[in-house]
Amino acid sequence: MNIPLNPQTVLEALRSVLPSNREHVSLHEPSFSGNEEAYVRECINTGWVSSVGKFVDRFERDLAEFTGAKYAVAVVNGTAALHICLKLVGVETGDEVLIPTLTFAATANAVTYCGAIPHFVDSEKRTLGLDPVHLTDYLAEIAESHHDGCYNRITGRRIKAVVPMHTFGHPVDLDPLFAVCQRYGLELVEDAAESLGSFYKGRHTGNWGRLSALSFNGNKIITTGGGGAILTNDEELAARAKHLTTTAKVPHRWESMHDMVGYNYRLPNINAALGCAQLEQLPSFIYKKRSLADRYKAAFSGVTGISFFTEPEYSKSNYWLNILLIDEQNLSQRDAILDLTNRNSIQTRPAWILMHRLPMFDLCPRMNLSVAENIVSRLINIPSSAYLGGEVHVEA
Ligand SMILES: *Cc1c(COP(=O)(O)O)cnc(C)c1O
Repeated sequence: MNIPLNPQTVLEALRSVLPSNREHVSLHEPSFSGNEEAYVRECINTGWVSSVGKFVDRFERDLAEFTGAKYAVAVVNGTAALHICLKLVGVETGDEVLIPTLTFAATANAVTYCGAIPHFVDSEKRTLGLDPVHLTDYLAEIAESHHDGCYNRITGRRIKAVVPMHTFGHPVDLDPLFAVCQRYGLELVEDAAESLGSFYKGRHTGNWGRLSALSFNGNKIITTGGGGAILTNDEELAARAKHLTTTAKVPHRWESMHDMVGYNYRLPNINAALGCAQLEQLPSFIYKKRSLADRYKAAFSGVTGISFFTEPEYSKSNYWLNILLIDEQNLSQRDAILDLTNRNSIQTRPAWILMHRLPMFDLCPRMNLSVAENIVSRLINIPSSAYLGGEVHVEA
């Protein structure tokens, strides 16, 4: 069956997957059906709501266990996690950091918090993430080696790190990216904010970078209200991350000694309590989201002119936010599709505006970004909450 693309066929394909008994289907809703209330109540009843408490320690242990990273440090949000990751790999004022232009603003903001300059890299169609081949060619053109690292011969600034992002949960091609970082002496930090539960070649994302950042914002696969974490396999970096995010206070029974300018970035115990309850449900969230993706894939397989994006080879994705890509010849229909679906209470949304197009980043260095430009012109996010994969939809 080949149905030609128009907004109505997209709406019908979405309706064939989504429950019909809901007034409004949003892009992503949190789901609290486990021990959330019991654990939060325990915090309130015991008074341990704030900066110390057993749920922070447990959440960090559970996160490390799930991701296979040796250490996890819980923090206030994903942006703070990225900020500390960049500081700890040595990003300094005046450095450049290579990041995808196709990302959420937090990736670029965190670079700026270090006094560094985002340098924008193109994406690849297969993963929607940073393109390692394109990056390798580009560095061959612009990079030169000095005694203290890799330099951009055009701007004269040091290039310190690369921050790939696993777009909407789909892992970037980490092996060749890791190789290019090794070759040029660049630090690899993964923005894994969207990829909790996503695996690359059998190993959880966030294990390739020296440090990685997770987010537990309200729209992510699990939420702590607001929250984030730093992952690392390096014991010393884990200890420094904990120290820096807890005001750099030196442990002592009564003395209030801080040995450097630290940050108050720790995750409150009450948020960690939510996180522990949410982590218990993560395997079921992933299962439901993957089954929702299967149903979307089937529903859109018969519609020509648009395709449902599926996980790159070698990876197992959490399908955090599902994606439709419109064929180029149908681009003029994008806004009509967004309009019709939203008018019918099915929330859909284009991707972020590319970072190099935002006013505060428009003078930052960049390579040719035509693939990312092409992807965002074609991309539509569609409803992806875990509960949508759990309800059995019976045809009327
Ligand atoms: C959500 C997100 C973050 C971190 O966001 P916070 O709201 O600070 O937790 C960082 N990068 C990306 C790509 C994200 O999607």
